[in-house]
Amino acid sequence: MKRSAPLQRKTRLRAHRNKPEVRIGKVTGKVRLSGAALEALREKRYAIDGGRCQWRKGRRSACGIWLPLYGSVFNRAHLAHLTSRGASGSDSIENTRILCFTHHIEAEHTKGLKG
Ligand SMILES: [Zn+2]
Repeated sequence: MKRSAPLQRKTRLRAHRNKPEVRIGKVTGKVRLSGAALEALREKRYAIDGGRCQWRKGRRSACGIWLPLYGSVFNRAHLAHLTSRGASGSDSIENTRILCFTHHIEAEHTKGLKG
């Protein structure tokens, strides 16, 4: 079958390239960072937390493992939110903490195991 005209998109492609790195919600006022701005926040929070996993449960058990700032996603320091992004949490110093991979993924992003 021959076509007289090439296929054309009916919806326009979203302009990801022009997305700003810092966005503030008009209604909620929440702060959203991406790219280098989010990386800068991770570095700042890392310095405050001394590069250690801030996870603790109750009075006795805490993690406190030291993590490298860069490296594999399984080893490096994770920037974790106190109030999740989904619950309108901001990407800010006050709303984040440093966690190790295990505590970030298993303790916070596994349904039903949140501690
Ligand atoms: Zn940990």
